[in-house]
Amino acid sequence: FIDAGHGGKDPGAIGQAGTQEKQITLAAAQELAKQLQATGRIKPILSRTDDRFLRLRERIRLARQQQADVFVSLHADSAHSRKARGMSVFTLSDTASDKEAAALARNENSADLIGGPSLGAEDPDAAGELLRMFQRESMNQSSYLASAILDQITDLPGGDRRGHRFAGFAVLKAPDMPSVLVEMGFLSNRKDEKNLLSSAYLNKLNRRLTTAIVNYLNAYGPRL
Ligand code: ZN
Repeated sequence: FIDAGHGGKDPGAIGQAGTQEKQITLAAAQELAKQLQATGRIKPILSRTDDRFLRLRERIRLARQQQADVFVSLHADSAHSRKARGMSVFTLSDTASDKEAAALARNENSADLIGGPSLGAEDPDAAGELLRMFQRESMNQSSYLASAILDQITDLPGGDRRGHRFAGFAVLKAPDMPSVLVEMGFLSNRKDEKNLLSSAYLNKLNRRLTTAIVNYLNAYGPRL
């Protein structure tokens, strides 16, 4: 399940040159779907194929409804410092790995606030022991998927140092699906923005993600 971050009335981050995150995530998601489809072994499902608003929990619901084996959410960051650049791969944690990760999760989660009050956004039963057990297992699996991705991106900007990080992203909270969020680069950085606007770069980046997803599913997924 490929989740193109943001959409509709939620543009996400805005780049130096005015690029909207929601456009980059959709282009990247469609490229990733094309490449996964081309393996002949994976059926890609997209959270959206056009410019529409989806609540974070709706994205999870769609993926679960389709019984997806993995959930990959694609995003592009923005930071106060225009120098910040590069990719990061995030998995869910109650404790963010650093302040920047915590701030980023707050930004990404605020997408749901744009849509107005959400009834049932927080499930009070979510603290059940069984659910926690599932969530623990899916957090382990999510880490394996994150590692598989990091193995493939060592030569891309940020791939060598930003690494696997943790934060409380709402969109990663499916209790039964390995879930990762890939921040593909910073729209606040001119070089990253230029890369993310280039179809050649998106093609290259998604070749890596495709290899990583195939490797992960070969090791841990249902038999392909
Ligand atoms: Zn985002």
